[in-house]
Amino acid sequence: MALRYAKETAESANRAKSEFLANMSHEIRTPMNAILGFTDLLHAQVIDKKQKSYLESIQSSGKSLLILINDILDLSKIEAGKMELQREPVNLYSIINEIKHIFSLKISEKGLDFIIDIAEDIPRSLLLDEVRLRQILFNLVGNAVKFTDKGHIKLCAEKIYVKDDRSRVDLIMKVEDSGIGIARKSKENIFDAFKQQDSQNTRKYGGTGLGLAITKRLVEMMQGTISVEGKTGKGSIFSIILHNVDIAATPARARSEKGAFDDQTILFEPSTALIVDDIETNRNLVKEFFVDTNISVFEAEDGESSIILARQYKPDVILMDIRMPVMDGYEATERIKNDDEIKHIPVIALTASGMKEDKEKIIHSKFDGFLIKPVKRSDLFRELSRFIMYSRKEKTENEGETEDVSPETLDKIPEVIDRLESEFRPLWESVRENNSIADIRKFGDNMKAFGDEYSLKIFQKFGDELILQAKMFDIENIGVTLETYPELIEKVRMLNG
Ligand code: ADP
Repeated sequence: MALRYAKETAESANRAKSEFLANMSHEIRTPMNAILGFTDLLHAQVIDKKQKSYLESIQSSGKSLLILINDILDLSKIEAGKMELQREPVNLYSIINEIKHIFSLKISEKGLDFIIDIAEDIPRSLLLDEVRLRQILFNLVGNAVKFTDKGHIKLCAEKIYVKDDRSRVDLIMKVEDSGIGIARKSKENIFDAFKQQDSQNTRKYGGTGLGLAITKRLVEMMQGTISVEGKTGKGSIFSIILHNVDIAATPARARSEKGAFDDQTILFEPSTALIVDDIETNRNLVKEFFVDTNISVFEAEDGESSIILARQYKPDVILMDIRMPVMDGYEATERIKNDDEIKHIPVIALTASGMKEDKEKIIHSKFDGFLIKPVKRSDLFRELSRFIMYSRKEKTENEGETEDVSPETLDKIPEVIDRLESEFRPLWESVRENNSIADIRKFGDNMKAFGDEYSLKIFQKFGDELILQAKMFDIENIGVTLETYPELIEKVRMLNG
């Protein structure tokens, strides 16, 4: 009895701690959202190289901080019992393929072999949480790459026999490496939060010691187990067994069907949006997304004034923050939806919280949609496209920009064309043929530098695009971008005419 009481007290203390951490992380994420958002905007406006590099430092530190916060948030959400798995039909082959793409550059840079071995008899569509599965494999393969300097990384998956194997399978996934290995005494605690191997060179490896703790808990949430084998200096093998994974009745959707929304070519019809948020910087950030669109914006600082403004202006859509003084987003939305004059206006909740509770509360309230901060332009526009009419403009990426060419650049056009034809065209041709990510990046860097040298925006942009696509292993779009090279040369020729 006393034991049970002690156990219950300890568990409830642990939950309270996790809830505290989850709230803390939420409070940190809100201002971080503004910091990163405005840094992005400023980066696009600043020309001075030194200032740009300062901004890049803010961006990269901000991003590391956000990763850390997200990890803490993940872990505390799991510990507080507030993370729910979203099972959907997934194709393990494509997930593993993606992981391979993501890491192949780093692995080849380190001169390691990457061996992938997936058993043919694993069903093509399994009911799993794709995001979390990707997170698990990403953590394990990421660690393997980090802690291995020579040899290989191997990722394998196989199915083990279960009695009723027409509807379910047991899966084993292993990530093996030939790296520094794991000391016997560390094996017991490396799955604990913030634990790293003793005397590990933190300068060299960095990290927070949260990856494996999260991984273990995610695996356990999937009814699985994780274990590690290996010795110091002899490499490690992390094995995951997932029990009773349901075989999905419908095929897994292709990634492109769920992909990001193209916010670059969307042309909204003239319309109005009401942004409701008590924090001015948050409103400004969202407002910036609407510059260069046909959507004009009104602002309200709390729920109560949002109702007054909604009655007065009848906006086409309302973007509603949740936590606000005077009247919060839930109540304001409730009232809007009970007001015959304005209840037709769609209300999209904007919440800084990734907590399940809030999400559920929002889903069960009268909101027409919801977005989690930090909101990305593409997500916002995807949501708006459900309510505001739009058309698509043709991708005229470089239109207009060529007009800004300075007289100095104009003088150099013959030289520019000559270099594009004799110096870069052969490079372009070989890059197109070889399809090597490293070469594509290099070509992107060259093009960007070339654009900088002659102040030609179209090449700066072309280079930037290629570098980004190479980083994301966005092979499909790399092809599309590369094909525009001859058009760019034509555009330069026209300047000359
Ligand atoms: P982090 O990598 O951020 O330190 P993790 O929780 O992912 O956090 O890993 C915890 C520790 O476990 C690492 O710091 C390292 O000491 C050890 N470890 C994890 N994976 C490997 C591996 N593949 N080889 C050797 N040590 C590893």
